[in-house]
Amino acid sequence: MCGVFGIRSAEREVARLAYFALFALQHRGQESAGIAVSEGGRLTALRDMGLVAQVFNEQQLQALPGEVAIGHTRYSTTGGVHWTNAQPLVHHGRTRTVALGHNGNLTNAGTLRDELIADGIRLASTSDTEVIAALIARDPAPLPDAVAATMHRLEGAYSVVAIVDGTMVAFRDPHGIRPLTLGRIGDDWVVASESCALDLVGAVVDRDVRPGEVLWLDADGMHSAQAVPEGRGAACIFEHVYFARPDSRLGGTEVHTSRVRMGQKLAEEAPTEADLVMAIPDSGTPAAIGFAKASGIPYDEGLIKNRYVGRTFIQPDQELRAQGIRLKFNPLDEIAGRRVVIVDDSIVRGNTMRQLVSMLFDAGAAEVHVRISSPPVVSPCFYGIDMADEDELAAAHRSVEEMREHIGATSLHYLSLDGMQAATRMPEGSVCRACFTRSYPTAVPKDGRTKLRFEMAPVLGP
Ligand code: SF4
Repeated sequence: MCGVFGIRSAEREVARLAYFALFALQHRGQESAGIAVSEGGRLTALRDMGLVAQVFNEQQLQALPGEVAIGHTRYSTTGGVHWTNAQPLVHHGRTRTVALGHNGNLTNAGTLRDELIADGIRLASTSDTEVIAALIARDPAPLPDAVAATMHRLEGAYSVVAIVDGTMVAFRDPHGIRPLTLGRIGDDWVVASESCALDLVGAVVDRDVRPGEVLWLDADGMHSAQAVPEGRGAACIFEHVYFARPDSRLGGTEVHTSRVRMGQKLAEEAPTEADLVMAIPDSGTPAAIGFAKASGIPYDEGLIKNRYVGRTFIQPDQELRAQGIRLKFNPLDEIAGRRVVIVDDSIVRGNTMRQLVSMLFDAGAAEVHVRISSPPVVSPCFYGIDMADEDELAAAHRSVEEMREHIGATSLHYLSLDGMQAATRMPEGSVCRACFTRSYPTAVPKDGRTKLRFEMAPVLGP
């Protein structure tokens, strides 16, 4: 995951706008947050562990003056959860200093790291992101050429914002796997992972950054180049299913609308007799609304979500762990004696769904029909979504009936691949669906995902 934002404005308080934009991108990463600014070429960066509201205060924002700002919220896929991997990363190279925020995941980071280290370059972090910064920072070519040369070396997913010598740069991988949107506030340009961040800062959407395109914003305005040829379109379909905020627009469609359609199609494909349609809040809510609309079964709340439970580092004891799901959800009395349809966007490991189904039966539900608004997740993501390894994916080696037994539901149905695709209104050849199909748009590492593979590796050059 991860959220990125960038702005150049001589008139506006760029750090404050980045700060607000990061609130809109908080759902894309809650491990750390950061902002880097440039004032007349002087770079300052502030990043720390935690949520945006925990990292920044008024005093700190006032200490970030400048005409260029980039921001980042992190959810790690390569590199551990610690301060050195918080972004924007700042890398001091032979040619230039680069502050950089990245959404995505490189599939050739190991090779590139080895090459940089062999070249005597010191890497301070254990993420794939610093590789991008280091390649740009050591290249003696003019900035746009250095970025283009770097993009030619990168494989996998990257939507990037950076500040280099006072210039804001944004670029996207040739498949456009992760989103990146360009907007305007008056005469000023902004980029963000999702349009909801543009809405929040009062910007209007101009267009998506094109796959393979690099943008750079300097005192003369915005410039654009097709740095690498556009490849086969592979926008992540899981952004439509779950990751993106429902009020963002992807491929011209509001995400909420796509999810309601997924629920409608699911009701058409897998109807059932029931008294109540409910969602696993909030991820299943739009699809549950769609399911209720199409089926005519009333939609109601059946589970109350505790919205104050973030990532907790406090391990519950044995007794509490057994009912750990109640930390997040509690059922309402009204499900007692009723046949319920419960809708969620996906099943990954299956533990949460199994606990929820059991909790609903304990609360007196007569039947629990589980409906999932995407197909079974059978293969891991190598492009920036920390789902799970294949052996942890509940559906990877189980039939739908075995999955039903595994979660203990009365019935279980998934939305078909075609149903999901149609709901997004995106052409089939323009998206990545690899976690459902095992058909990846690029080469992926044969040894699977290894998130912490650089933690033990030497990070200093000779
Ligand atoms: S593998 Fe799945 S989650 Fe990863 S980019 Fe492709 S569709 Fe998205």
